[in-house]
Amino acid sequence: MIDDRENPAAGSTTAALAEESAGLRVAGYAAPAVKAPLRPFTFDRRAPGPKDVLIDILYCGVCHSDIHQARDEWGGSIFPMVPGHEIVGKVAEVGDQVRKWKVGDTVGVGCFVDSDRKCEACRAGEEQYCETGMTPTYNGYERDGKTPTYGGYSTRITVDENYVLRIPEGIPLDGAAPLLCAGITTYSPLRHFGVKSGDKVGVVGLGGLGHMGVKLAKAMGANVTVLSHSPGKREDSLRLGADDFLATNDPTIFEKNAGRFDFILDTVSAKHDYNAYLGLLRRDGTMVLVGAPDEPTPLDAFPLLTKRRRLAGSAIGGIRETQEMLDFCARHGIASDVEVIPIQKINEAWDRTVRSDVRYRFVIDIASLRQK
Ligand code: NAP
Ligand code: ZN
Repeated sequence: MIDDRENPAAGSTTAALAEESAGLRVAGYAAPAVKAPLRPFTFDRRAPGPKDVLIDILYCGVCHSDIHQARDEWGGSIFPMVPGHEIVGKVAEVGDQVRKWKVGDTVGVGCFVDSDRKCEACRAGEEQYCETGMTPTYNGYERDGKTPTYGGYSTRITVDENYVLRIPEGIPLDGAAPLLCAGITTYSPLRHFGVKSGDKVGVVGLGGLGHMGVKLAKAMGANVTVLSHSPGKREDSLRLGADDFLATNDPTIFEKNAGRFDFILDTVSAKHDYNAYLGLLRRDGTMVLVGAPDEPTPLDAFPLLTKRRRLAGSAIGGIRETQEMLDFCARHGIASDVEVIPIQKINEAWDRTVRSDVRYRFVIDIASLRQK
């Protein structure tokens, strides 16, 4: 329930904090309308039911999808919008039937907080492809079809225990938050399409998703090349573990590297020419789109059919696979490279993300929402 249409807390989180202690009142930041800057916003979370977990949020990553949706670039956005689907926090309360979690556990929440649990996709553990639609962590509705969901740019969240992840020990918590979306979105296609040791993998775009793609593909034993429209990211690419770097603003790279890659992971957030990148695949190679530009791109049949190449897409990952990815990251010492910001800097961080000026994920320190 939202009871602050006038948003009395705008400009200060103090009022929200005073009320927060009274119940499940939560302080957050919201986009009040399409393309409007984010500002303080208070709202109520549901009291935990028997199977729910109440989480005190510590960190929330900033995904480019937050920006696409708050600017309504994909259509159908719901306002006010509290973004955030890369959530890490501590369990503060559990319902009396909760079996998996106890107070004090370090947990995560990703891009969805429910699904129908009975369709073929859910039964296969691929809730992100739920046939009746997953319940997104924000910019959607609960299963009742009318209660809006609000994301992690906020102090607390109530989530069904089955949609909560365990953050393994050893991963720094700020660097763990982006794994809940950027991590799983890149891990899942690498696994699904069977990338293996020695494969030549190209990662297009070195942002939040791209830098995770580099680290994960490298940990799977691949030979990794970054393809970037920012020539200044060469050094970082190599530091992150890439074996090679190609600056895509040099048009000659497409001819010189034709047929080079087994697999290409395209994480670019803006419209670009897929056809050019398809030509970089070898025979039977696969390119997977995870980036979600708001504009369509014409597709030419020839780069596909001449070498039986495949073009596919992939969306985040299911709960089971997300846990597998978190455990994989812990085993391999992988976390996101983050720039931690107070929430008050969120609008600036979004502008920098759109300019490809993020190294490599902004993460909000939610303590900044609790400060008086
Ligand atoms: P990000 O941090 O902004 O990274 C995107 C990168 O794309 C930029 O750093 C830049 O890399 C490249 N890029 C941006 N504009 C470009 C342009 N005009 N031409 C060429 N390259 C450009 O974003 P992100 O959070 O990683 O998200 C990337 C995309 O994936 C977004 O569209 C997001 O919505 C989508 N996404 C999809 C899923 C899914 O489930 N499939 C999940 C999460 C996010 P360089 O500077 O290296 O070129
Ligand atoms: Zn995301």
